[in-house]
Amino acid sequence: MNYKRSSALFVEAEKVIPGGVNSPVRAFKGVGGTPIFVKEAKGAYLYDEDDNRLIDYINSWGPMILGHAYKPVVDAVVEKAKKGTSFGMPTEIETKIAELAVSMVPNIDKIRFVNSGTEACMSAVRLARGFSGKDKIIKFAGCYHGHSDSFLIQAGSGASTFGTPNSPGVTKGTAKDTLLARYNDIENVTQLIEANKGEVACIIIEPVAGNMGCIPPKEGFLEALRALCDTHNILLIFDEVMTGFRLAKGGAQELLGIDADIVCFGKVIGGGLPVGAFAARDEIMNHLAPLGPVYQAGTLSGNPLAMAAGLAMLNELNKDTEVFSRLAQKTEYLHKGIAKVLNDNNIVHTINRVGSMISVHFDSSEVVDFETSAKGNNDTFKKFFHGMLDEGVYIAPSAFETWFITDALTYEDLDFTITAVDKVTNKET
Ligand code: PLP
Repeated sequence: MNYKRSSALFVEAEKVIPGGVNSPVRAFKGVGGTPIFVKEAKGAYLYDEDDNRLIDYINSWGPMILGHAYKPVVDAVVEKAKKGTSFGMPTEIETKIAELAVSMVPNIDKIRFVNSGTEACMSAVRLARGFSGKDKIIKFAGCYHGHSDSFLIQAGSGASTFGTPNSPGVTKGTAKDTLLARYNDIENVTQLIEANKGEVACIIIEPVAGNMGCIPPKEGFLEALRALCDTHNILLIFDEVMTGFRLAKGGAQELLGIDADIVCFGKVIGGGLPVGAFAARDEIMNHLAPLGPVYQAGTLSGNPLAMAAGLAMLNELNKDTEVFSRLAQKTEYLHKGIAKVLNDNNIVHTINRVGSMISVHFDSSEVVDFETSAKGNNDTFKKFFHGMLDEGVYIAPSAFETWFITDALTYEDLDFTITAVDKVTNKET
C-alpha cells in the first residue's frame, strides 16, 4: 500500500507536535514506520489520507463499539451542537445519561462525568482516599489506569511499549504510595496488604486486563480480591474504562458477577467524544464536593455534545438485547479462524479473548500477567503488524494492546481478516 501522504503529513506534524502525535502509542514507535493519518471512517472501516481502506480493529482504542460514524450518535451530536457547545451550567441531558448509566450498571447509585478515563481513575482514587482516610493504593503491574502520577508505576499499554513503565516526573513521594501487585496472584496481594496493614485505601484493577494484551482474571481471583477488601476494609475499584458497556450492559461486574465499590468508565460511555465517569453507591459518592469534602471539578465536564454522544450510544446498547452476545460470537469466530491458520502455518502463539476483547501473543506460554505478556516475540509481532497493514487490516501498533471488535464488522470482514493472517504468516514460514 501507498502511504505517501500520511508520511508527508507526519513530517509536518513532527515539527510542531512532540513525536508528531498527541498520544505516544499512535507514533508506531513500537513497530517502526510511519503512522497512518485518517481522513474519515465509517462502520468497520478507516479511510486514510492516501485513500487506502483499512478494516479497523482498534476503533479509537475501544469507544466505537457499534462502528464509526454511527448514525444515532452523529445525529445526536449535530443536533446538540446547533444549540450551543458548552455552558458550564447544569443541563437536563446530564441527568438523563446518569439515570441510564445507573440503571444499566450494578452497585452504583450516583455517577459523575469527567473528560477522560485518566480523570475518572484519578478522581476515583482520590475519593477512595478521602472516604477511607488512608493513603496507599494497590495497582497491578501491566494495568493501565491513565497517565496520572499515581498510576505510572509499571503501567501497561503505551508506557510498556516505550519501555518506560515508570515515568520520570513522578515524585518518589507519590510512587511510594502506589504498591505494585502481580495480576492473577492473590498471595502476592495478600502479602502486600499484610505488610501495609491499615494503610491501604483501595485496590484498583482492570477486571479483565486489556493493557498487557487481553488477560482474563483466573477463576476465583476477583472473588478472593473482593473478600480480601472486605476483610481489610479496602475499597475495590474496577477500572472499567475498557470493559464498561463493552463486555455486558453492566460491564465486567455483570459478566463476572463481582461487586466493586467504585467503578470507572471511559471510551464507550462517550460514544467517541471525550468522556469519562466514576460511580459508586451513595455512601461513597456523597463524599464528593459539593456534598462532601473530596474536591473534583471540570470546566467541560458534562459537556452537552459529549453527553449527547454518550446518551445516544448507551441508549442503543440498552435497547439491543443481543448486541453483547453478537459481539462475543464475532470475536469467537475470529479467534477460531486465526488460531487455525496460525496452527496450520506453525506459528507459536497464544490467543486470549473475553467478550469482544481479543489479543494474539507470539509465545506459547499461558498469558496471565505482565511478565508472561512481555514474553511475546516482538519481532514476530512487528512483521505481523506491517503485514496485516499491507493487507488492509489495522491492528494496534503494539503487542501490549487489545483488539476491539465492533458490531459493524461483518462475517465477510472477519473472513477477510483471517485470510490476511494466513497470507502474512504463510510468508513467515
Ligand atoms: N483505564 C484503562 C483501563 C484504559 O485502557 C485507559 C486508556 O486506554 C485509561 C484508563 C485512560 O483513559 P484515557 O486515555 O481516556 O485517559
